[in-house]
Amino acid sequence: MKVKRFEGMSSCYLIQGKQNVLIDAGADVHDRVDIVILTHSHFDHIAYLHHIVKRNKCKVYVSEKEKQDIETISEKTMYRWSPIQLEPVKVHKTLKEGDLLKFDGFSLRVIESPGHTDGSISLYNEDTCELFSGDTVFNFNGVFGRTDCPSGSHKDLFCSIDKLKSLKIKKLYPGHDY
Ligand SMILES: [Zn+2]
Repeated sequence: MKVKRFEGMSSCYLIQGKQNVLIDAGADVHDRVDIVILTHSHFDHIAYLHHIVKRNKCKVYVSEKEKQDIETISEKTMYRWSPIQLEPVKVHKTLKEGDLLKFDGFSLRVIESPGHTDGSISLYNEDTCELFSGDTVFNFNGVFGRTDCPSGSHKDLFCSIDKLKSLKIKKLYPGHDY
């Protein structure tokens, strides 16, 4: 996978190929984007989503549990904390545990990893053992996401981390501090 990283309010990753797939939208990515997949609906991961969608007419994928949050900018997005105005965006496809998203040259498995929010997902490339973990787990000594935000759960997060630990991971792309 050819992955280009963008730093903004969160770390975003553009997987480049025939279709350019962007993981999270916390940076104003000006490269061509065909599909945006969101790990969760927090403001720092969706802040530039409406700009990116407007420019590219791209599709937006998110877990079922966060769809409404994106489409209405709910309390769960914590929009009040956002330095820029958030705008509702239409979701084209909802994702659930085990879905395999096939793109040209690579696939991503959807792994539900609730805890940071109830609809948080991670995305795993089973062929290259690369994991996009959102705010579930970070690169520093196994630091993991906070659970004190709306819909967060400490218990769920620990289950999710156990689940992710069972994967073979060669490269981790977390939502912050790459
Ligand atoms: Zn978050």
